[in-house]
Amino acid sequence: MSKIPFLLVILDGLGDHSYAELNNKTPLEAASQKNISKIKSFGAQGLMDPIAPGVPPSSDTAHLQILGYDLTTEYFGRGPIEAMGEGIELKEGEIAFRADFGTVRIVGDRAIVIDRRAGRIPTEETRQLVELLNKEARFVDSYEFKVVGLTEHRAAIIVRGEDLSYEVTDNDPHNINVPVLECQVREEAREKEKAKRLAEIMNKWTIRTMNILEKAELNEKRKKEGKLPANVVLFRGAGVMKKLPTFYEKHGLRAAGIAGGALYKGVAKAVGMDLIEVQGANGMPDTNIKGKFEAAKRALSNYDFVFLHLKATDYYSHKGDPVGKSEFISKFDDHLSIIEDKFKDIALMITGDHTTPCDRGLHSGEPVPVLISAPSIRRDDTKIFSEREASIGSLGRIRGSDVMKIVLDMIERTVEFGTRPSPRLITYMPSELKALKIS
Ligand code: ZN
Ligand code: ZN
Repeated sequence: MSKIPFLLVILDGLGDHSYAELNNKTPLEAASQKNISKIKSFGAQGLMDPIAPGVPPSSDTAHLQILGYDLTTEYFGRGPIEAMGEGIELKEGEIAFRADFGTVRIVGDRAIVIDRRAGRIPTEETRQLVELLNKEARFVDSYEFKVVGLTEHRAAIIVRGEDLSYEVTDNDPHNINVPVLECQVREEAREKEKAKRLAEIMNKWTIRTMNILEKAELNEKRKKEGKLPANVVLFRGAGVMKKLPTFYEKHGLRAAGIAGGALYKGVAKAVGMDLIEVQGANGMPDTNIKGKFEAAKRALSNYDFVFLHLKATDYYSHKGDPVGKSEFISKFDDHLSIIEDKFKDIALMITGDHTTPCDRGLHSGEPVPVLISAPSIRRDDTKIFSEREASIGSLGRIRGSDVMKIVLDMIERTVEFGTRPSPRLITYMPSELKALKIS
């Protein structure tokens, strides 16, 4: 069987609207497409609803869906994925949250959030506060808490103990001038009693840590210097560490992931891809794109499937900067030349994990454009890679959950529906087949 390597490029939040400052084009339409157009000349395009039409995806859910995971049975929250991406080793069953040190002002019996980043407290100072909390608030009842300091105001919280369920809400109100929220049981929780227990200990922990932080020497010093004290830990994205079936088990493809942002590294790790570290890859506009493409080029010789993630498109969208976004796409196009000699021999998909319109500054439920190319594929006559052209492309309108089926078919690994070479119901020809022993 021929082995066609596959490269999946995700430009985070790629889809967008058109803007006057880009001559009524979208950032993608206004970008240079020198290399993209070469790919397009032997490809096709279409639109994808990462989850479903009208549903704004979060990046982690969109990625898992696109990689062929079932969000109703195989998604256990964002906290552990992000923690894994930060290099934190979690054990099965441990609960994790993403957290930020913030600033609150007490008004009556409420704690009003006035800054969600505690004046962008530096990493070293966050580390000092983390140490204090790990000493003085290590246990609530019999449950153990561990805070891990990340960069600047960022942290992760890990909770260990029996009979807990991650199905709880955030204490982070995701806004300022509103109170810190009570952690509650999610209405759809499958294990309500266990979730209630976690919600209770999280609320106790929040109050206790607020008291500890308020009195912390470091915060006294910050206040004297006219800086905001880091006197609250705002958490979100509760999740539990569960082992997912690996990408190889699911699709029969040996896969590698290349990303700068912690969440995307976490996604790659969570699905058992080999994570390829690239120096200077940071999920920001000044990321090492060259290094990432060079790593992808090497990986295409050793793996069946390579996932390459670039975050800056989404960064510019959240900032409301369509010109910056378009310029970053041009930069991306320029660096595609690094793999140009592979264009004809590999299968390739360039898409986004969701639309993030710069005029909204938030993820929307609109579809994203998808460009595919492969040695053997039905091509279309669309002109440039674009949200508008994608709507008349021959790929039509697909869902995120269709992507891996299309990928396997593009690289000629599929078996006809109903063929059973293996006890497991799979849509691809497995690389290991059980031979009949004849002696
Ligand atoms: Zn995203
Ligand atoms: Zn985003």
